[in-house]
Amino acid sequence: MATGRELGKTRLPLWAAGFVVLICVAILGLSGWREWETRSAELRNAEIDVANLAHSLIQHADDTFELVDTILVGLVHRLEIDGTGPDTIAKLQAYLPTRKSSDRVRGIFLYDATGRWLATTERLDFSKLNNSDREYFQRHRDSPETGTLIGPPVKSRAGGQWIVTASRRINDPDGGFAGVALLTIDVGYFVNFYERFDIGPNGSASLLNTSGIMLARSRDDSGAFVGRDLSNAPLFNGWESRPAAAVYYFKSPLDGVQRLSYYQRSSRYPLMVLASKSQDDVLAPWRRAAAARTIFVLGLVLLIAVIGFYLVRQLVQRQRMARALVAKEANFRLLAEQSSDMVTRIGLDNRLLYASPSCVRIIGWSPDELLGTSAVAGIHAEDMERVEQAIVALKNGEAEEARFVYRQRHRVKGEIWVEAALHVTRASDSGQIDGVVAVVRDMTEQKDLQDKLASLATTDGLTSLANRRAFDERLADEWARARRDGTQLSLLLIDVDHFKKFNDHYGHLAGDGCLRALGRILSAQARRPADLAARYGGEEFAVLLPNTGPDGCAEVGEGIRQALHDLAMLHAQNLPSRLVTASVGAATSLPSQTTTDCSTLVAAADRALYAAKDSGRDRLVMSGQIVPWPARSA
Ligand code: GH3
Ligand code: MG
Ligand code: MG
Repeated sequence: MATGRELGKTRLPLWAAGFVVLICVAILGLSGWREWETRSAELRNAEIDVANLAHSLIQHADDTFELVDTILVGLVHRLEIDGTGPDTIAKLQAYLPTRKSSDRVRGIFLYDATGRWLATTERLDFSKLNNSDREYFQRHRDSPETGTLIGPPVKSRAGGQWIVTASRRINDPDGGFAGVALLTIDVGYFVNFYERFDIGPNGSASLLNTSGIMLARSRDDSGAFVGRDLSNAPLFNGWESRPAAAVYYFKSPLDGVQRLSYYQRSSRYPLMVLASKSQDDVLAPWRRAAAARTIFVLGLVLLIAVIGFYLVRQLVQRQRMARALVAKEANFRLLAEQSSDMVTRIGLDNRLLYASPSCVRIIGWSPDELLGTSAVAGIHAEDMERVEQAIVALKNGEAEEARFVYRQRHRVKGEIWVEAALHVTRASDSGQIDGVVAVVRDMTEQKDLQDKLASLATTDGLTSLANRRAFDERLADEWARARRDGTQLSLLLIDVDHFKKFNDHYGHLAGDGCLRALGRILSAQARRPADLAARYGGEEFAVLLPNTGPDGCAEVGEGIRQALHDLAMLHAQNLPSRLVTASVGAATSLPSQTTTDCSTLVAAADRALYAAKDSGRDRLVMSGQIVPWPARSA
């Protein structure tokens, strides 16, 4: 019982539910962590890509401007040595187009101190053109710096396309301003180069100067980006403190795309490149794969959760059932153990599986002594077959319950009568019959009482002979038997002579004594087991003699009459003998008389009795053969 309660109380379902939740959370956490790792790896790979690209681009820019520088330095050196005389210019005019062989160099231009065109690679009439208004021209004129100046992109005055300028100041022999040598590069040259790299549909490669002016950008067909001033962009905030090259995440101010990029500054020129990929482009394959994996994991988790929920519910239900079972068992035990009846459980092998404590009182054996023993031990041999048949019928499913009374041996008291109520039991899971429950109670007292009542109902109290009721029943039975077997049945009716006078003279008690004495005579004379002597009523008696013919009947009747005579009880008023005497009427039924019933036999005997009375008493009168009613008198 204690263990049962503990079983009911256990926290197993709670632990199981916790475990399922833990597993689900762990799977979700692990897969989330793994996805984040994959995402980070994708971004890291993309960072390496854009860094490599940036290295290539800055190398390309450096190489380009180094070539430009070399040309400009050569030109300026020559002009400063040879001067800008017409001969020199003429030679240069012939020389310049040869330098344009490279597709990087768009054009080369020489201007004098006033901005007038001196020579150019372009084939056009430039006699009236003047570039003194250009910013680079004014910068060189106003500053003694002799380095190469890379200017912002401008629209070419010669061809109308976007160009990047590189220029150097030409000094006269005194160090004064003598003009400018200018070289232009098509922005398209950079753009074409940048577009050779696969950087995704929304990636970009840009060349900027360090002031934040866009020089060239891939995918800039409409020219919307070139020349834009990005100095206000966050990248240029705190520009000086930033490293020369680094990964940089930003939302592009130009197209609003979230980008991951790598910028790198040139170590030789005031230039930088910015290679970037759209973060969405980089992460798109991962997103697709992650979505598929996540759906799978969520499905798995859902499955685990559903199965877990089902199992936990089963656990809870089982516990509830176990608790109910324990309570039921307790109730049953209480009933069985407090019952005054003996409760036993019989297995299919007829052995006792359980016996309640009251078996000590009922049959004298303790439950411990009975357990495992045969359930039919101690049953009276005559009742055994009946009981065993009932148990077999129950076990075969032919009946659900049975009730019967039988004799059982008590350990001390000997034989007792018991009543048993049997009921089949079934296994709770399969519903198969698994035994029988028997409730047994001691019936000995009731049985004795019953027997007594039964005998009272059939016996005459005064003479202890059968009474009239028993006689009538027996007469009907014997009559039927005689008809069936074709045997003779005889009947004697005996009536004490002048008994009223005996009573009057000697008193009722003496009368009773007289009747008892006659009863004893009848018992003694009706010797055969089948004979029945009965008190028919008052001082009238009957003796039924089965299988007896008229002679035998007359003999018994005469014997009775004679025996009473021989008893010699005084009866002063019964003349002539002055003894107690009786008259006897006898009748016999013959096998041929099949149509009559037993009342004809009684009537015949009665008539014979009257005849005996009429003819002087103290005698036997035989009736003639019994014939259908109304019969002839004997
Ligand atoms: P008969 O010779 O014609 O038979 O005369 P009888 O007096 O015997 O006939 P009757 O039937 O008139 O009387 C029967 C008497 O038997 C009446 C009754 O007082 C007596 N009697 C009947 N039953 C008992 C009994 O149980 N005890 C005693 N003492 N007397 C009984
Ligand atoms: Mg009478
Ligand atoms: Mg009489």
